Amino acid sequence: MGSIERFWYILLLCLTLFIGTFAEFIPGSYLTLPKCIEATETTATYPNDPGWKNAKVGERIRFQRKPLVVTYPINTTQVQWLVQCANSFKVKPVPRNGGHSNIGSSSKDNSLVIDLSYMDSVVINVVTQTAVVGGGIRLGPLYIELDKAGFTIISATCPTVGLSGAISSGGFGLQSRKYGVSGDFVLEAEVVTANGSILIANAESYPDLFWALRGGGGGKFGIVTQWKLKIIPIWPKFTVFNIDYSYVGFQEVLLLFWNWAYSSIEDLSVAFVFSNKEIKIHGHFLGGQKDLHNLLDPVGLFKVANAKPKKHEDCTHLGSRAYFLDKDKTCDKSYLLNVGNFPFGPNYGEDPSLKTAEITQVTEGVLAGYAAALKQQREVVKTKSMFFAKELSVENITTIIERAKAMPDGAYAELTTYGGILETQLTDLTAFPFRNGVAYHILLEVPLSGNDITDGPALNFITSWEEALRPLSNGGSYVGYEDEDLENPESFYFGKNLDKIKGVESKYDPNNILDAGQIAPPLTDERCPFVVGGDPPGRRSACIGTNDNLHIYLTYLLIITLILLNILSASH
Ligand SMILES: Cc1cc2nc3c(=O)[nH]c(=O)nc-3n(C[C@H](O)[C@H](O)[C@H](O)COP(=O)(O)OP(=O)(O)OC[C@H]3O[C@@H](n4cnc5c(N)ncnc54)[C@H](O)[C@@H]3O)c2cc1C
Repeated sequence: MGSIERFWYILLLCLTLFIGTFAEFIPGSYLTLPKCIEATETTATYPNDPGWKNAKVGERIRFQRKPLVVTYPINTTQVQWLVQCANSFKVKPVPRNGGHSNIGSSSKDNSLVIDLSYMDSVVINVVTQTAVVGGGIRLGPLYIELDKAGFTIISATCPTVGLSGAISSGGFGLQSRKYGVSGDFVLEAEVVTANGSILIANAESYPDLFWALRGGGGGKFGIVTQWKLKIIPIWPKFTVFNIDYSYVGFQEVLLLFWNWAYSSIEDLSVAFVFSNKEIKIHGHFLGGQKDLHNLLDPVGLFKVANAKPKKHEDCTHLGSRAYFLDKDKTCDKSYLLNVGNFPFGPNYGEDPSLKTAEITQVTEGVLAGYAAALKQQREVVKTKSMFFAKELSVENITTIIERAKAMPDGAYAELTTYGGILETQLTDLTAFPFRNGVAYHILLEVPLSGNDITDGPALNFITSWEEALRPLSNGGSYVGYEDEDLENPESFYFGKNLDKIKGVESKYDPNNILDAGQIAPPLTDERCPFVVGGDPPGRRSACIGTNDNLHIYLTYLLIITLILLNILSASH
């Protein structure tokens, strides 16, 4: 070989090495998922990292999932890149907000969890009465931020629940009977879809997606990175109340409650809570104590069964939200809402000795100027959810009471009143279907230990409880309380809206890439991300999985070897 040929070979070798260095592996993306995630500059926790046990679980720890990695993006672009990394490596991207999914839907096996906890910004426009909030905010901090400007929204009571999870389920809360559910407050959503695109969904743009995001179930249509919400001024006058009753009056109180509550005025939010020892009613009324008395006196609820009412009409708005969390029913514990980004103690569900949460305050992400909440217990519980129409006979009431008396200790039921404005709304106003014709929702809950054998009796009890009550229900269950026992769960969760929801799901996620629901389809080889709006730094957009990358890498090594051999043989 002449010196000119050798020169060209050496130049070719240099060029190949140069391209290889900058493109990592030619011509595809990264050889490993961690490399791809690293390039997105997103914080990530892996199974051998300190803090892994804490990272992989949410608030409900009965089901232990085994994700591959938990990531914490801080902006929409990172979410987009993470979805692309997941697609490149044929791994399910699973969004997580508050982590309250009963069955661990926000932390699936072999998935790339996209935990949006740091995407919790709140920007309020008092003139338009709107707020743009991050898809990772929890409800407690959201209530506090809105309260600062004199506003609020309607959503769940529990401050650690995520806004995105609540909207995806529907989001029933204080004053839903007057203003609707959380999803009804959404004006617009920024969504990273399964193929990595960013869409803005509202009434004009992608209206079908906009419809489905509000109550159609979490993690199926895309990952919501930002919500634009309509906000409402904090109600000027209100009373929170609690009525404890003697247990002997169970039937009388339940009958009075059942026959009256759903048809009562919209300004009243009211629930009946019972266990094997206690019965009580608690509520929130948009008016003063006197008006509350005028409302309840004719019903008789302040007089029956040795009623012991407590009422407060002087709470702050935040104090009244905390009232429902406080066992002592006071209004001075607003700090219970200041739950930060990581509100849970070290009870991971795997080591029984760590079951009790540290009695320490939450530190990360708490809002300045407010005391911080204490770290909370993660829960090992089993729940059942059922909706009822108004009709229920005395025999049915007797069935409810008999089952209640047989509850295991620690179990309870909460009967929440629907009706009000929801009664006037069509089932398909949004994907959340429980509006007209729905009078009550019942949540049954039994505490568990996490040990399958000792938990047997409690699980059998809740199953038999459901068997007794399900025939009295309207057949629906709330997707926010996912239940692994249900066959065809989606028909329970979405009823008449199911076909439309499925249509939207297959339109926006045709290859079932997301689908964080109860039925996880097997991964297919057809996942090829269509990259819109930019790639992760230094990464080519390509539909290349792990094995393809390996082939490319080996081919690359072979080319270098051949060039080297040519140069060496030419030198002899
Ligand atoms: C203690 C407790 C109290 C509750 N109280 C109420 C109540 O008062 N009213 C009520 O209506 N409901 C209530 N719920 C139900 C609750 O609203 C739902 O379980 C809700 O889905 C939880 O949301 P999360 O973000 O906390 O959970 P996660 O487990 O994080 O998410 C739930 C689902 O939404 C998906 N998801 C999460 N973030 C996103 C996102 N950004 N984009 C798209 N999908 C996403 C997840 O993948 C998962 O499938 C309660 C639940 C618990 C455990």
